Amino acid sequence: MISFQSYDFQNKRALVRVDFNVPLDKTTGLVSDDKRIRAALPTLRHILDNGGSVVLLSHFGRPKNGPEAIFSLAQICAKVSEVLGTEVLFADDCIGDKAFGLSEALKPGMVLLLENVRFYKEETAGDLAFAQKLAAHGDCYVNDAFGAAHRAHASTTQLASFFPNDKMAGLLMQAEIENAQKVMLQAQKPFTAIVGGAKVSDKVLIVENLLERADHILIGGGMAYTFFKAMGGQIGASLCENERLETCKEILHQAQAKGVQIHLPIDTVAADRFAADANTQIVDSDCIEDGWMGLDIGPKARTAFQEVLLQSKTILWNGPMGVFEMPAFENGTKEVAFAVANATKNGAFSLIGGGDSAAAVQQFELSSEVSYVSTGGGALLEYFEGKTLPGMAALDA
Ligand code: AMP
Repeated sequence: MISFQSYDFQNKRALVRVDFNVPLDKTTGLVSDDKRIRAALPTLRHILDNGGSVVLLSHFGRPKNGPEAIFSLAQICAKVSEVLGTEVLFADDCIGDKAFGLSEALKPGMVLLLENVRFYKEETAGDLAFAQKLAAHGDCYVNDAFGAAHRAHASTTQLASFFPNDKMAGLLMQAEIENAQKVMLQAQKPFTAIVGGAKVSDKVLIVENLLERADHILIGGGMAYTFFKAMGGQIGASLCENERLETCKEILHQAQAKGVQIHLPIDTVAADRFAADANTQIVDSDCIEDGWMGLDIGPKARTAFQEVLLQSKTILWNGPMGVFEMPAFENGTKEVAFAVANATKNGAFSLIGGGDSAAAVQQFELSSEVSYVSTGGGALLEYFEGKTLPGMAALDA
């Protein structure tokens, strides 16, 4: 792969695929979290500081039938300009004469943001002819959209093929891959993976892959209750995927055979409703009464998880321990987050998967106390499932 750091950007227009799929505040319409824009800053600054200009290409939300104002990247242009500290031009289309006119006229140091690439169904279809049109915007192609690297879309994969000698991974993409590899390929032992979230079905592949690598797997969140039911426990109205009971049994069996310790939460904060002000009680996770549901791991489970984490040298975290969006059920996730931060202080390497785990770490203001917080939820998950990410593979091809 061509090295971004040594590439000569002087007088070149760099077509940079970024992931600016940022959340907007429902009332003000302003960007409510600019993390993803800031994450691309080192790449963009490097190009501009080295005499290049930048054409930004991104998706935004999931538009179904062409252009829709709610999915327009025009809404974030001012924020991109603020973060970059420079004027950012906007093209109200990503292909078309006007857009090409704007990109052709770019001078070194200038930045152009193209309209949402998903306004064309050819993007998600991975259409080669569409990618060829997009390619006309740049002299070189930089992919910095790790968050979209698991999608085989036109702008993340096909586009690279039009720049055989001028395609490269940006600094964010490089950092994401390096940090993921530290865990996947070079994990120092003991290696503990924390897996949580709502569904077993979303996490089966990652757990199976981790059985080949991890020493301990801590399982929390809604997915833990399918495991308890599989072992004959009583889980009341907790989340359960009955069609996954056999999968859970198989995972437990495999773990035993491979010498991997699976830790399930011994106790649970059970609620009588799925509501922030529900009545709650602490119960054993395999003895939850009818009508009650487990919404967080209990205090004994938190202590047990902390003990494992404090002895770990490598930690991977994907998925919350409970319904952390509600204060009554945030404590399990919070205490695990603090334990990860403490383990990191003691020398462990900790990688936080994107999505909800990253949101949780941010909620508890611990983002700078862990080793790396990934910007890619689905992409990181697929990487740890052992899949090849099309966006990464296209840069090597
Ligand atoms: P995922 O996207 O699969 O990582 O799941 C994250 C979501 O799972 C979050 O929105 C949590 O609120 C939710 N969650 C975590 N624990 C539970 C639980 N015990 N019951 C219901 N939902 C949960």
